[in-house]
Amino acid sequence: MSRQLEPIARMVAELSKLPSIGQKSAQRLAYHIIGMPLDDVRELASALYQGRKAIRYCNVCGNYAIDELCEICADTGRKNGQICVVRDPRDVAAIERMRDYGGVYHVLHGTLSPMEGVGPDDIRIRELLARLSDGAVKEVILATNPDIEGEATASYIARLVKPMGVLVTRIAHGVPVGSDLEYADEITLAKAMEGRRQM
Ligand SMILES: [Zn+2]
Repeated sequence: MSRQLEPIARMVAELSKLPSIGQKSAQRLAYHIIGMPLDDVRELASALYQGRKAIRYCNVCGNYAIDELCEICADTGRKNGQICVVRDPRDVAAIERMRDYGGVYHVLHGTLSPMEGVGPDDIRIRELLARLSDGAVKEVILATNPDIEGEATASYIARLVKPMGVLVTRIAHGVPVGSDLEYADEITLAKAMEGRRQM
């Protein structure tokens, strides 16, 4: 096999850093991009760069935001007495798609994982407890994934929150065990939310 031209090799190297893009897929994408009109490539590069630059995390809940507060925290119509705790901002988007939940969120940005060295101080648990200190929150819904790490994280948070006199619930296993919340359909998610139980 002949050596790749240096600019192509660089494209492949960058693309293959993306999740689930192996060397082969990166090559396919690079060759596809080389075949695109230059204006389209500029638009793609600009969307990636500008998008990355514009998005930050909400000061309150940790969701994706453009300003200090995300759209949900800034919405005065949302019930502040209910906080749904999730792993990723992508999980917020998944629950929002079912249009059934009127409370607010707290994004942990990870789950406890002793195997990977992720402890309580590495995810946003302290920030969650701070939000509960003024007594306005009546219910914390733990909506971490129904896998080992998600369950361990939910139990850990429940142990800390319950003594604060806040109702702690866990979404039911309408979501298949071992799967990602992000990929659940709206009906499955709605069922899971409906069947949440006190912890
Ligand atoms: Zn927010």
